[in-house]
Amino acid sequence: MKIYDVNNSMDMLTSLNQKFGSAGRLKTFKNWPFNHDVRCNPKAMADAGFFAVDDPEEPDLAECFFCGKQLDGWEATDDPWEEHKSHQANCAYVKLNKTTENEWTINETFALLKEYYRNQGNQRVKSLKDNWNDEMKLLTAEIPQLLQKSRKNKKILK
Ligand SMILES: [Zn+2]
Repeated sequence: MKIYDVNNSMDMLTSLNQKFGSAGRLKTFKNWPFNHDVRCNPKAMADAGFFAVDDPEEPDLAECFFCGKQLDGWEATDDPWEEHKSHQANCAYVKLNKTTENEWTINETFALLKEYYRNQGNQRVKSLKDNWNDEMKLLTAEIPQLLQKSRKNKKILK
């Protein structure tokens, strides 16, 4: 087991996911349609927890690294933090109310990490469940055919 230096807990987090740090998120805003002289600038977006999805169809599509909320239709005067708060008040990153990870305490950092992995786990379980349901629908749809085949085979055997 690796023992992490508590002072480097942020390094540990960003090594797991670059988007956990605002610097990592900021790097994703290369093609962001707004520049530094407006409120909706890349730094404010990154500080508010967003990274740019970088979708050529939707150049202003951004996603919260924590809750996964995606927002587009940004305007230059939008305050990213306020937008995040109004659309996703339950996001643990929003609730923490600290725009930079440098202000997180060790306890807050680990509480966020725990919540982050719980969210990831829930998403994974949901996706497995959805796949399972799709698979079951396909199999269920095949049952009448399979029954028919098996009846035909029985007839041949007789
Ligand atoms: Zn969020």
